[in-house]
Amino acid sequence: MLYQNSKSSENSNVRIGIIGGGVGGATIALRLSEQGVNVILLEKETSLINGPPMCHLHAGGNLYREISDQQCIDLLKQSISTARLYRDAIDYRPTIVAVPLHDNGHPSDVIARLTTLQQEYAKLVEADPLNQVLGPAEKYFTLYERQDIERLAQLVAPKQPETCDEWMISFAKSADLNQLKFPLILVQEFGINVFRLAAIASLTLEKSESCSLLTNTQVTSVIQNKTSNKWTIEAKCQEEKQTFEVDYLINACGFQTGTIDNMIGLLPKRMVEFKAAYVSYWPSEKNNWPEIIFYGERGTKNGMTQLTPYPNGYFQIHAMTPEVTLFEDGLVSSELESAQPQLDKKYLAKVNNQWDPQVVKTRTAKAIDKVTGFIPSFGNATLGGPPMFGAQQIPGADATLRVANVSFEYDNYARCEIVKASSALPAANTIIKNLVEHGMLFNNSTSDSNTSGSNASDTHTSQTSVSITYSLTELEISQRAEQLALERNFPKDLAGRTNPNFI
Ligand SMILES: Cc1cc2nc3c(=O)[nH]c(=O)nc-3n(C[C@H](O)[C@H](O)[C@H](O)COP(=O)(O)OP(=O)(O)OC[C@H]3O[C@@H](n4cnc5c(N)ncnc54)[C@H](O)[C@@H]3O)c2cc1C
Repeated sequence: MLYQNSKSSENSNVRIGIIGGGVGGATIALRLSEQGVNVILLEKETSLINGPPMCHLHAGGNLYREISDQQCIDLLKQSISTARLYRDAIDYRPTIVAVPLHDNGHPSDVIARLTTLQQEYAKLVEADPLNQVLGPAEKYFTLYERQDIERLAQLVAPKQPETCDEWMISFAKSADLNQLKFPLILVQEFGINVFRLAAIASLTLEKSESCSLLTNTQVTSVIQNKTSNKWTIEAKCQEEKQTFEVDYLINACGFQTGTIDNMIGLLPKRMVEFKAAYVSYWPSEKNNWPEIIFYGERGTKNGMTQLTPYPNGYFQIHAMTPEVTLFEDGLVSSELESAQPQLDKKYLAKVNNQWDPQVVKTRTAKAIDKVTGFIPSFGNATLGGPPMFGAQQIPGADATLRVANVSFEYDNYARCEIVKASSALPAANTIIKNLVEHGMLFNNSTSDSNTSGSNASDTHTSQTSVSITYSLTELEISQRAEQLALERNFPKDLAGRTNPNFI
């Protein structure tokens, strides 16, 4: 069934070209086609949302002690909007945040911020009850002292936890409590499944009458006509040259955003970082787990460790140490003469899937060791699949920036540079606002429908009518998500959610 846009036929006179079908470009295409705008989405790879991975929704930014309260609030708002748009890609399981004994910090360092986030969440729910996507606001976070954990360790862990206490039981039974400071924090920061997200975006755009989706299509040049301001895009599609003309151009090329800026002659500052997470298999563990964060100082041997659960014994591991997730000289900045930061050739080869199997084995083993330091029985885990990796863009010169969006530096040109997946929807809303301001788009639904915050013009929270993503069936989504996981050489279990029935 083709999705027929009910909104505005006025908008169909405008043609917009989007380069890059990651979560940024795909979400912008989805929002614009929902407005009835003619969109052409050009992606050089074989499928959408096939770049750097994502597993955590960041609904409150609690993984990052170093970022400002404002960035955490923005991440909370953006995550709520994202969870409403991509409802069926969300993995509804909480996150445990633990401070290791060797760390200089203390749980009390983040408790005041959690209280602020809880209050913000309560306000958003009060403004629109549909914002309650993270459970009740009063349960946004829960603290557990050592005696609480010792009591929970005596209980039988349910296969499918439902209450906060039930989510803590498997951890309470397995963690080495002598390695941790108390209280532990359980926060309703959920996961986002990259394969289900890719499935939802692909299926929706394939059904949209307003969107032409061209994969295997690499843009090689963009030129603007100085009189009409229209853009001519040249692209290579299976060795054949194709040309497209559009009224407005959106650069959503992820870590390659600078290559398009170079074609236009723009030189903004940006950074690119190559990182990887590893897939492990812990067959003795059949219960569903929460995500677990062990804080640590980034870049040191005690860097933060993140254990992300998938169904049927699969776990993804990040450890922000030079031996696991981070790479020597993996963070590079743009130079004066080029907008595109130059990653070392060995990392570009990895981006293109050329990994030495021995490196995968060694880094996955080190990742497993990191977790075993806190959860001794995790020592039985083995390599569970290829790494999940990619290069991530960070606009500007602040490497700790986590909330970024869109910049407009040229006529009829928008540059979408997001650091987290949840910023994709605000980026789309910002572009729609810009198009309306320039008289290129009418009937702006970011201000007329279902606004999720108290301020209708807030692009973090402006909500889509979402009907197009909700029209997909669970069977369609799960089949496509599994197909994408297998095509990308991952176990199909990674396309599943640990808690499909929650909410
Ligand atoms: C290891 C790791 C873990 C991460 N974990 C999380 C997480 O848990 N949660 C989270 O929110 N974020 C996470 N991120 C960040 C997240 O993956 C990125 O923010 C997000 O993927 C960026 O999306 P994007 O659409 O901007 O870029 P991309 O996903 O990189 O998409 C850009 C697209 O443009 C295409 N392209 C480039 N040049 C051209 C061209 N010339 N012609 C046509 N197409 C082109 C590329 O093929 C690509 O598909 C993680 C990143 C890494 C590296």
